[in-house]
Amino acid sequence: MEDRRKLMEEQDKRIKERMGKIKHKIAVISGKGGVGKSTVTVNLAMAFAMKGYSVGILDADVHGPSVPKMLGLKGRRLQVSEKGEILPVLGPMNIKVVSMDFLLPADEAPVVWRGPLKMSAIRQLLGEVDWGELDYLLIDLPPGTGDEPLSIAQLLPDMDGVIIVTIPSEVSEQVVKKSVKFAELLKMRIIGIVENMSYLSCPKCGERIEVFNGGAGKRIAKSFGIPLLGEIPMDPKIAKEADSGMPFVVDFSSKTAKAFEEIVSRIEKALGG
Ligand code: ADP
Repeated sequence: MEDRRKLMEEQDKRIKERMGKIKHKIAVISGKGGVGKSTVTVNLAMAFAMKGYSVGILDADVHGPSVPKMLGLKGRRLQVSEKGEILPVLGPMNIKVVSMDFLLPADEAPVVWRGPLKMSAIRQLLGEVDWGELDYLLIDLPPGTGDEPLSIAQLLPDMDGVIIVTIPSEVSEQVVKKSVKFAELLKMRIIGIVENMSYLSCPKCGERIEVFNGGAGKRIAKSFGIPLLGEIPMDPKIAKEADSGMPFVVDFSSKTAKAFEEIVSRIEKALGG
């Protein structure tokens, strides 16, 4: 027991050291799955990288690690350096990616990580990964606001804050409320809300079509006193690109890409560059 406690303290110290070399650490959270949390994480990472920042993504969504697929890195494995450090996989625009998916055997049924095993695997991984110096690390946490995302977030020291990804459905308000509570529990700042699948952009004329009740993100942000970082349209291309492994932002002429660029500018401003 004593040994285990010592090991955990040692790991926490190492995590702190490694994280200390990263200027900004942002957790991306959502009240529930399927709202586009990973899509937003990956595209924000691309938008930051395109601005010249060095960027990393920690895919801590242990249920369905989808970041590798979205970046065309499925099936890749983490390498170990001569010094015994774990090296992230390099993705497009030199984005450094660490995902539980890189630890799982390929072509097998998804591994069900038992709770304690999962946490100790993540803790060990975080202590051993050599991110080097980074400007931004985006952390894709598991969906929801339960014990699991909470425990993982608690492993990460000195975070700048969280970004809440939501969609404009009726339940949004309740979902956001839970996310706000989550951030409060962690004593983390809420950098802002991203409303995903906010509206439809007509592919022919570019007109904005409100599918849900328009302006939900704005209203929610206002009622909670949280900044609205941006509204991302529902865009068939985003899903297609996610499947092909090249994130959308690369096509930077589109409205969707512009929305991501704007969000990045707002985050930069909020965090002081
Ligand atoms: P989460 O990480 O919240 O579970 P994902 O990022 O995996 O959600 O997205 C769920 C699905 O929705 C994916 O198939 C993704 O391609 C699609 N998707 C996400 N955002 C958009 C969008 N703005 N327009 C169209 N499809 C989207």
